[in-house]
Amino acid sequence: MTGAYDLLLAHVREAHLLASTAALLAWDQETGMPTGAGDVRARQLELLARLQHERSTDPRVGDWLSSCEADAALLADADAAANVRELRRDHTRATRLPAALVAELAATESRAQQAWAGARAASDFAAFRPWLERMVALQQQKADCLRAADQTRWDALADLYEPGMRADDLRRVFTPLRERLVALRQRLAGGRAPDPAFARRRIDESRQEAFVRAVAAAMGFDFTRGRLDRSAHPFCTSTGGDVRLTTRFHRDNVLDALGSTMHETGHGLYEQGLEVRHLGTPLGEPVSLGIHESQSRLWENHVGRSLDFWQWCWPVAQQHLGDACDGHSAAGVFGAANRVQPSLIRVEADEATYDLHVMVRFELEQELLTGDLPLADLPARWNVLYRDYLGVAVPDDRRGCLQDVHWSCGLFGYFPTYTLGNLYAAQFAAAADRALGGLAPLLRRGEFTPLREWLREHVHRHGRRFPPAELVRRASGAALSATAFLGYLERKLGEVYGL
Ligand code: ZN
Repeated sequence: MTGAYDLLLAHVREAHLLASTAALLAWDQETGMPTGAGDVRARQLELLARLQHERSTDPRVGDWLSSCEADAALLADADAAANVRELRRDHTRATRLPAALVAELAATESRAQQAWAGARAASDFAAFRPWLERMVALQQQKADCLRAADQTRWDALADLYEPGMRADDLRRVFTPLRERLVALRQRLAGGRAPDPAFARRRIDESRQEAFVRAVAAAMGFDFTRGRLDRSAHPFCTSTGGDVRLTTRFHRDNVLDALGSTMHETGHGLYEQGLEVRHLGTPLGEPVSLGIHESQSRLWENHVGRSLDFWQWCWPVAQQHLGDACDGHSAAGVFGAANRVQPSLIRVEADEATYDLHVMVRFELEQELLTGDLPLADLPARWNVLYRDYLGVAVPDDRRGCLQDVHWSCGLFGYFPTYTLGNLYAAQFAAAADRALGGLAPLLRRGEFTPLREWLREHVHRHGRRFPPAELVRRASGAALSATAFLGYLERKLGEVYGL
C-alpha cells in the first residue's frame, strides 16, 4: 500500500512548488518589482492561489490518506506516520470550509484591508466598523466549520497558527505574566533609564548594511541558500530551496536595523535548519508561528540585547560604523538597546511591554468572537485596557484600535503567537545555556555555532514531527511557562535600571 503514500507525497511536493513559486513572486513584489507590474502580478498570484486550493481539496488526497491510515506497515515508520497525521490535519481543515465561504472570506479580506487603511489614515473607526462587523461574522462561521467539540470558536481559529493552542491554557499562563509585567513596568519607572544617544546617531545606510550583514553571517546564515534585501517592513520568506530575508534602515537608528536583521535571520536559520530531504512535506515545514517567532526573538533579544554579545560586537560595530562609535562603549550600547518606554504602538514596543500589547488584543478578540463586546464599544474598551496594562492614554483610534492590519485580514487568534514566541525563546535559551555550559562566554567570543547547532538539533530539524507543546517539552524539559522569560527579563532590566 506504499503506492498511496508515494502518490500522496508527490502530490504535496508539487503543491509546495506552487506555494514556493507564489512566495518568490510575493517577495519580488515587496523588494524589487517595478510599480507598473502590479496588475499582472496580482493575476499571477491569484492563479497560483487557485491551483494550490484545487490541489489541497483534491478528493484523491482523502482516498490516499485513508489507504495510508489503514496500512500498519507504513505507519510503523515514524516519518511516514508523522507525515500522514499532519497531512490528514491539513486535508480536514481544507475540506471543512465550503468553497463559497472561502471565496467570500478572500473577497472581504481584500476589501476590508483597503477600508482599514483608509480608516486608519483618517483615524475614523466608524468607517471601518461595518467591515469589521462583516469580518467578525465570517470568522464566526469559519470557526463553526472548523471547530472540534471541545474547542471554542477562538480556539478553532488559533489552532490554524499554533496547533493545539487553547484560550483557557493560555490564560493560565498569561494572567500571572501580565500582572508581573505591569509590576515590572512600574518598578522600572523609578529606576535609572539608560542613555539612548547611540541609537540616535546618524549613520550612512551603506555602513549600517555592511554591519548588519557581518552580524547575520556570524550568526551562521547561509548566504549561498538565501539573500538579505530591503523592504518597508522586514520579513522572512522561504522559497523552497532558499530563504529571503529583508531588513530596513533609518539614518538615525542603527539599533533598529540590527534588531530587525537579527530577528529575521533567526527566522531564516529555522528555515535553513529544516531537513532538505523532507522539503515539501510536513516534516520539512515549520511547526507553528509561535515556534517560528521563538527563533527570531531568541537571536534578537537573548543574544542581540545581551551585554556578552555587545562585548564581541562592539569592535565589529567600530569597524563598520567608524567614528559614529566615538564616545560610546559596549556597556553603553547594551543599555541603549534595553530602554523601556511604554508606548501606544505594538510594533515599536520594547521587550518589557510588548506582551502587554498582545494581552489587550487577546482579551478583545475573544470578546468579539463570542459577541460579548459590541463593535461600537471596541475603541473605548481598547483604551481602558491600554490605560490599565500599559499606563498610557490613547489619544485617537489611529494610535489605538486601528493600528494593526491583522483583524482586517481575518487574522483572529494570531496575536498570542507573538507572546508564545517570547516565552518559548526564554525556555530554549535557558535549556541551551544549561546544555552548553553557559551561553555567556560563547557570545562574548562571537562563537554562535554551538547555539545554532543546539537549536537545529532540538527544534529546527523536527519540522512538524511533534506538536508545538511536545516540541517545547522535549527541547526545554518543561511545559509552556512564563518562569524562564520573567526570570531573564527581571534580571537583565534590573541590572540595566540599577534596581
Ligand atoms: Zn517574527
